Amino acid sequence: MPVLTRLIPSPVAVDIRAGALNDLASVLADERVSQSGRLAVAVSGGSGARLRERIAPSLPGASWYEVGGGTLDDAVRLAGQIKSGRYDAVVGLGGGKIIDCAKFAAARVGLPLVAVPTNLAHDGLCSPVATLDNDAGRGSYGVPNPIAVVIDLDVIRQAPARFVRSGIGDVVSNISAVADWELSQRVNGEKVDGLAAAMARQAGEAVLRHPGGIGDQDFLQVLAEALVLTGIAMSVSGDSRPSSGACHEISHSFDLLYPQRAASHGEQVGLGAAFAMHLRGAHEQSAQIARVLRGHGLPVLPEEIGFSAEEFVRVVEFAPETRPGRYTILEHLDLTTEQIKDIYADYVKAIGS
Ligand SMILES: [Zn+2]
Repeated sequence: MPVLTRLIPSPVAVDIRAGALNDLASVLADERVSQSGRLAVAVSGGSGARLRERIAPSLPGASWYEVGGGTLDDAVRLAGQIKSGRYDAVVGLGGGKIIDCAKFAAARVGLPLVAVPTNLAHDGLCSPVATLDNDAGRGSYGVPNPIAVVIDLDVIRQAPARFVRSGIGDVVSNISAVADWELSQRVNGEKVDGLAAAMARQAGEAVLRHPGGIGDQDFLQVLAEALVLTGIAMSVSGDSRPSSGACHEISHSFDLLYPQRAASHGEQVGLGAAFAMHLRGAHEQSAQIARVLRGHGLPVLPEEIGFSAEEFVRVVEFAPETRPGRYTILEHLDLTTEQIKDIYADYVKAIGS
């Protein structure tokens, strides 16, 4: 009997718990990521510098590189610095910008990346995509998935609460993104990768239904795991389909139309997901998402992040242009300005205040 299976590109080590950072060196040695201990560690000047002081003694063979920001130039510069160092691996220790820089640099010099995120702001911490600012604005670059992910929940707790909130919005938006994917399958025959869809949806549902709050250890555990699984779902499908649909088009539209006023990624995609679920007629799910987001202190109305109803209508109208080729409920309904206005008024009534 033939055994048909597939290999999933996934990290060899996933360590998510309080105090995980203290054992970073032994996790890497045990998993044979770095037996020699020769590591290139990319850190930010801020939170990274403090962590460096704390963990440098446990990584005697590491070289430390301060990364300026999240631009393509920063990432290329980092790659140039580490390419002749004979390292076993690159460690990205910090927020999303540092991880993305490290991902890109590691890919460029052909080394595996160890992701050690210090906040849970979005699902990029273990994804095959590096998002970097370039001359044209912002670009997404395909890279290998991290070979190991270490998330210390004690470190996560020290990050500002807004980062945890942003992660909640990003992972809950998976539910709407997968619904968009399935819509495209029904209408256009687009192939849905069932495993990727299951991983992304279950991650979203677990966070949606978890009774804990952003200060609870067990909630942070589930949120961190959900974000990691979402990243791996993207590796499984080979694109961002499992975690990015109309919710993300709406967020990109906020970013492009109002670059100076945009809120956090998670705030925008969470709001976008609640609205997109309403658009597709899933009113109960939309209200549930809105209720949960509100419970965690996330916005569900554009006014709550400083945008008027008219501005939001413009955002929704422009959203499909931000991601040509991606079919979501927005492209499916192809609404006129007047229709968007009406449905938005209906949404406001449906979710209540
Ligand atoms: Zn996202």
